[in-house]
Amino acid sequence: MRIAKYAAVIVAAGALALTACASGSPNGGGGDSAPEPAKEVSFDEGTTMAKLHDAGKITIGTKFDQPLFGLMNPTTNKPEGFDVEIGKLVAAELGLSEDQIEWKEAVSANREPFIEKGEVDIVVATYTINDERKKVISFAGPYYLAGQDLLVLEGNPDGIKGIDDVKGKKVCSVTGSTSEKNLQEAGVDVLATDTYSNCLEPLRSGEVVAVSTDNVILAGLADQNQGEFEVIDNPFTEEPYGIGLKKDDVDFQNFINDTLEKSFKDGAWAKAWEKTAGKVLSTPEPPTIER
Ligand code: GLU
Repeated sequence: MRIAKYAAVIVAAGALALTACASGSPNGGGGDSAPEPAKEVSFDEGTTMAKLHDAGKITIGTKFDQPLFGLMNPTTNKPEGFDVEIGKLVAAELGLSEDQIEWKEAVSANREPFIEKGEVDIVVATYTINDERKKVISFAGPYYLAGQDLLVLEGNPDGIKGIDDVKGKKVCSVTGSTSEKNLQEAGVDVLATDTYSNCLEPLRSGEVVAVSTDNVILAGLADQNQGEFEVIDNPFTEEPYGIGLKKDDVDFQNFINDTLEKSFKDGAWAKAWEKTAGKVLSTPEPPTIER
């Protein structure tokens, strides 16, 4: 069976990768950086894995304005965060180094079109797996389970305790996100913008009483703007984060799922968390992959 064949090669390559990591990485990361790329991978001809490996390049869509998950570092001109580390893990299993990744900014509304048009090979961008999206793309994962919550001004001047307290009130969220849809379904008056960072000014000015999206995105924004905002911490949805890929590319989906499962087991996933989101949030248990 094809899947079993490349899985065996990857396990062997993964062992090499660990050895390489112990001897230090050219990126100067040592224990900090993503695993050293597995050089001796080989893939069945015609698969997306073979194509990406042979091209020596993968294009990954991620957020550029979400602290902890995907935030552009203007000094290095590279994004940083948990999603970025997950993208690096996938690239490494394809035998690609960090330098062989092209990062493209994804916003909530352009993720499916990016994948459908082939502008990116994968999307790793706080991307909830759901049936509506599965009509046009496929997902690997989940690699994290978030939940939608509310961000308010520090001190919570309106005394908001949860979603019921903002029904009929104005709350900022992002077009094309599950957050926007969940709010609309709950009877909240939504001010929709393109990125969550663009929701902060309306919250500061009092145009909205809250910003709503996944708790981990809100935690990152609160951490980035110390003393200004707080997360209510009363999540009201489940948001399993997946890696978006071309619809029905089952070999690639299985490959990414195998990669994620390996990272759950060998500690690479936990390490990726600890160096990014883990600076603010406690380390969760890895979720179970949907097969
Ligand atoms: N996870 C949700 C979604 O995929 C909200 C966060 C986001 O917009 O990236 O739509």
